[in-house]
Amino acid sequence: MSAFNEERVLSVHHWTDRLFSFTTTRDAALRFSNGHFTMIGLRVDGKPLLRAYSIASANYEDHLEFLSIKVEEGPLTSRLQHIQPGDPLIVGRKPTGTLVVDYLLPGKRLYMLATGTGLAPFMSIVRDPETYEKFEQIVLVHGVRKVDELAYHDLLVEHLPSHEFLGDMVSSQMRYYPTVTREEYRNMGRIPDLIESGKLFADLSLPELDPAGDRVMICGSPGMLRDLKHMLEQRGFAEGNTSVPGAFVIERAFAEQ
Ligand SMILES: Cc1cc2nc3c(=O)[nH]c(=O)nc-3n(C[C@H](O)[C@H](O)[C@H](O)COP(=O)(O)OP(=O)(O)OC[C@H]3O[C@@H](n4cnc5c(N)ncnc54)[C@H](O)[C@@H]3O)c2cc1C
Repeated sequence: MSAFNEERVLSVHHWTDRLFSFTTTRDAALRFSNGHFTMIGLRVDGKPLLRAYSIASANYEDHLEFLSIKVEEGPLTSRLQHIQPGDPLIVGRKPTGTLVVDYLLPGKRLYMLATGTGLAPFMSIVRDPETYEKFEQIVLVHGVRKVDELAYHDLLVEHLPSHEFLGDMVSSQMRYYPTVTREEYRNMGRIPDLIESGKLFADLSLPELDPAGDRVMICGSPGMLRDLKHMLEQRGFAEGNTSVPGAFVIERAFAEQ
């Protein structure tokens, strides 16, 4: 059996000239945990051109959703950014990854810290009712350079809190903190700086990070992961992985060349 399914693009949304999202059909046999990534791509000259992508939709939905960067000279995204509804898309059958709530020790509050397209796995996790059963409170922090890169802002602020099934849980348990680094905005600054200075907690009226009850998931640039991992370890947080649960788990949003 092939390691890949061939799906069809259902819809495409361009957030900016560097960022877009799209939905595809989903093979009924595809299984994944919310927070997983898989290989996706296009056939180029008859050969699959694949890259790792986090799945932004939840595992109970009948479609798949992805949030993508557009890299001008990028082998895949220079092409992928032109997809249209009806086009084929290759999707790996073996989603995997560490950003799964089961790889965290039980806790009271779950922080999800993302930069850029690192938001994608958390869009899956915030749409999962189990997340709200496991944690009393969920804090989603999304850092971007410019305001228009705050993908899914309206969904997080308006649509999810009034969602038919998730609405009550989202509005009573989820806090969303968008932050911008290169434009004026109500919240500004890099996530590691907002944690170090305590501003994030002051703004949300929450206590400082504490390994006793807080759990953290991080998905962002390699530099952001390095800074946050160091900061958390200094505060007594132990990293978890797919075999040993911990107080925090991390995943790269992309690999640096
Ligand atoms: C575990 C994992 C999960 C990933 N999930 C996603 C995802 O959900 N959405 C997504 O767009 N990409 C994701 N990526 C990155 C993705 O695999 C590709 O790198 C990206 O699609 C660009 O592909 P490319 O062939 O056009 O360029 P590549 O040759 O792959 O990348 C060229 C350069 O572009 C930069 N770059 C690549 N991806 C990004 C990004 N997402 N944000 C900012 N800069 C980037 C890097 O500097 C990279 O070296 C993920 C990567 C990993 C390792």
